[in-house]
Amino acid sequence: MQIMLSGDRPTGPLHIGHYVGSLKNRVALQNNHHSFLLIADAQALTDNMADPDKVCRNIREVALDYLAVGIDPTKSAMCVQSCLPALADIAMLYLNLVSVARLERNPTVKDEIRLRGLARDIPAGFLCYPVAQAADITAFKATVIPVGQDQIPMIEQTNEIVRRVNRQAGVSCLPEATGLLSATSRLPGVDGQRKMGKSQNNAIPLSASPATIHEAVQRLYTDAGHIRISDPGQVEGNAVFAYLDAFDEDKDALEELKVHYRRGGLADKDLKQRLETLLQKLIEPIRERRLALARDPSFVWDVLQEGTKKAHTITQTTAEDIRSALGLFRFATARRP
Ligand code: ATP
Ligand code: MG
Repeated sequence: MQIMLSGDRPTGPLHIGHYVGSLKNRVALQNNHHSFLLIADAQALTDNMADPDKVCRNIREVALDYLAVGIDPTKSAMCVQSCLPALADIAMLYLNLVSVARLERNPTVKDEIRLRGLARDIPAGFLCYPVAQAADITAFKATVIPVGQDQIPMIEQTNEIVRRVNRQAGVSCLPEATGLLSATSRLPGVDGQRKMGKSQNNAIPLSASPATIHEAVQRLYTDAGHIRISDPGQVEGNAVFAYLDAFDEDKDALEELKVHYRRGGLADKDLKQRLETLLQKLIEPIRERRLALARDPSFVWDVLQEGTKKAHTITQTTAEDIRSALGLFRFATARRP
């Protein structure tokens, strides 16, 4: 069985972009992979150092979201990044295998720096987080990484590091990883412009109430040129169609709607009604399961403790493998001559 690793930053509740981008794949893959889900609290601090409480609080929330969408803790180990010191150890070593220029070229990091307004004051940890992510992936020797589009540059950077380690070791000490994209690898936010993101105030959470779902769908922009119902409308770049593409399983009916919309005569209100019905139906059972699970906080605690313990053993072993592959020896554990 191959090893699957994926994860999320505990910066807020998981949203429908996570669901179609990665969670659905993770739920399916856990049945035939050794599966690990990393709640990346240390990475979340790279741009949330002013609010560590938010990050801590959201660890439990992300775990609840996992369980509510169908992650089975007997199949997937859920672990907390900051409780795995081997990840930081490995990241420190990898930092010497990557140039600052290479880090500055990472297109996702560049985008995020712009979106977060960090350009004048980039935390070094933020610039380096792709290296920490390489440490995370390789510490589990993971080969299958279900992610959204924005994470593909991180996988490329990981594999560059893997090749450097293996070259230096003279043996294949670490496997290369493959990013697994879903059909919707970048769901736009309700602002219709940026990627839906927890930190962007443009998300529909998987725990959203019926009223929140309704308001979000109403807020969605369609085609600014579609003024009268009879006007021909544009499907491309229309957020409602982007969401229908992601969530409407009746592809034939959706194709007909697109033809009708392009021709004119289909009201935005009707499109939005169809989308809202789909989203209410998707989210309701997740929200209900989440509420039931939240009544037993010690269960979530135990799941995280157990998953982290399992991950600890594995990542410590890999850290030792990497140290010796790179020709380092550990004074602390060396035998007295
Ligand atoms: P933040 O805004 O704090 O960065 P986020 O919403 O981008 O939060 P992450 O925790 O950074 O979420 O990403 C977790 C996983 O979800 C990654 O694999 C990422 O590619 C995927 N993902 C995030 N947003 C989307 C989206 N809008 N569409 C598809 N996949 C997504
Ligand atoms: Mg993100």
